[in-house]
Amino acid sequence: MTTLPSAIPQAHALLSRLGVDAAILDGGTLAACSPVTGEVLAQLVEATPEQATAAIDAAHDAYLAWRKVPAPRRGELVRLLGEELRAAKADLADLVTLEAGKVVSEGLGEVQEMIDICDYAVGLSRQLFGLTIASERPDHRMMETWRPLGVVGVISAFNFPVAVWSWNAALALVCGDAVVWKPSEKTPLVALATQALFARAAARFGPDAPSGLSTLLIGGRDVGEALVDHPKVPLVSATGSTAMGRQVGPKLAARFARALLELGGNNAAIVAPSADLDLTLRGVAFAAMGTAGQRCTSLRRLFVHESVYDAFVGRLKIAYPNVPVGDPRAAGVLVGPLIDKAAYEAMQSALTHARAAGGRVVGGERARVAGPDAYYVAPALVEIDAQAPIVRHETFAPILYVMKYAELADAIAAQNDVAQGLSSSIFTLDLREAELFVSGEGSDCGIANVNIGPSGAEIGGAFGGEKETGGGREAGSDSWKTYMRRATNTVNYGTTLPLAQGVTFDV
Ligand code: NAD
Repeated sequence: MTTLPSAIPQAHALLSRLGVDAAILDGGTLAACSPVTGEVLAQLVEATPEQATAAIDAAHDAYLAWRKVPAPRRGELVRLLGEELRAAKADLADLVTLEAGKVVSEGLGEVQEMIDICDYAVGLSRQLFGLTIASERPDHRMMETWRPLGVVGVISAFNFPVAVWSWNAALALVCGDAVVWKPSEKTPLVALATQALFARAAARFGPDAPSGLSTLLIGGRDVGEALVDHPKVPLVSATGSTAMGRQVGPKLAARFARALLELGGNNAAIVAPSADLDLTLRGVAFAAMGTAGQRCTSLRRLFVHESVYDAFVGRLKIAYPNVPVGDPRAAGVLVGPLIDKAAYEAMQSALTHARAAGGRVVGGERARVAGPDAYYVAPALVEIDAQAPIVRHETFAPILYVMKYAELADAIAAQNDVAQGLSSSIFTLDLREAELFVSGEGSDCGIANVNIGPSGAEIGGAFGGEKETGGGREAGSDSWKTYMRRATNTVNYGTTLPLAQGVTFDV
């Protein structure tokens, strides 16, 4: 075991530069930890459910004022937020590394996604279009208009600790909504820093941005529940495990609120006989081992055609033990730590089940990179004959199950045969195979790719589509409509009052 440099002074220096008041970093009940060293970085005060309720009421008041600000002007606030993020990119990314354990390039990539969605939302603020529809009645005009919705609740997971907020907040803000954010209890510091950057943007924007427009609620599940239960929150965007979605979804449905649920993924890729194996190796390695397997879109199941199985899997078996695992702050490291002990134990339990089901395991052991409270692992490769129950379960760790196939139809059926389909890929140079995979008969996931891995989506497309929930839709495309209310307006500019077809009503 080596001794890593302490994360505490670095974290406090970053928080100070990012505008977080040092006084709030001590004295509370929520320990903010670094998975890099296992140290406690801060002790934060958690919001009580009563405080959460009061903050949501204040956010509703902010929405009532914000909805009157013209949408392109609202876009200006998001443009300023993008500027603040650009200026603070390196610092915020370093804090993501310390608190979520991502390697430096992935931390930077996460903040870049925030900047990209701000740019996207600025353009969108001038394009919140509705249709004009031909009316069946004479001298009438019918149109649809999109109106602000209200307070948008955002509940986020630890593994994209800031990007997920920005996908929701940038759109919600230009749509005229207020935002209340309950970040993961495992990553509260990056949320405080992001909120401080928002405050800088709002101060530059001026008094048109009401106080309470963007609110942060630090705390655990009970605070998330307060957000889910509050009648003045018409939309909750919740990202996390399917277990969380199962609790949140029915509660929102019971009060007819909208749910945007982005949940787990048990993502697969198919390696066909014609695949470019060099490109495939890089695609598979990044998707399976990047972010230590802690992406919702991480590759977890691989179906390799029998004609290339030995050649391709042989190369994977060489790559796996050689991937650099270590301090994510260090240059050249590709795999950082798991988030915590529970994640490590879940991984070991999954490997035990895989062995019991006949799986042949390479890797998976603990790597002694730091002290006892930091959990680093060698990524695991498991050759297995069929999809045992453990293969069909999302284990949030770097485990790749590899299976052999003979017929593409069987591989597609097997890849679709899990509850949590989110993302998927095929590696092939055969046009017919590629088109079949992305057709209606092919992958049933929200994301289906050809010759790139399942992870690393762009913000321009609609992200998500975890099929158990019917598929949430976040970020690009027409996702903005979820954050607005559609009204159909009919205007009669004539002198008669035609009623619905065949109806008479003389008074
Ligand atoms: P988690 O489900 O443990 O927690 C996610 C968030 O939900 C946290 O903020 C938590 O406090 C909150 N929460 C939990 N139970 C709640 C409840 N009953 N009511 C209200 N809030 C509640 O998830 P995690 O361990 O932080 O993240 C990993 C999971 O997230 C994985 O399953 C991963 O696939 C998924 N994920 C999905 C996406 C996506 O876009 N599909 C993105 C990132 C992560």
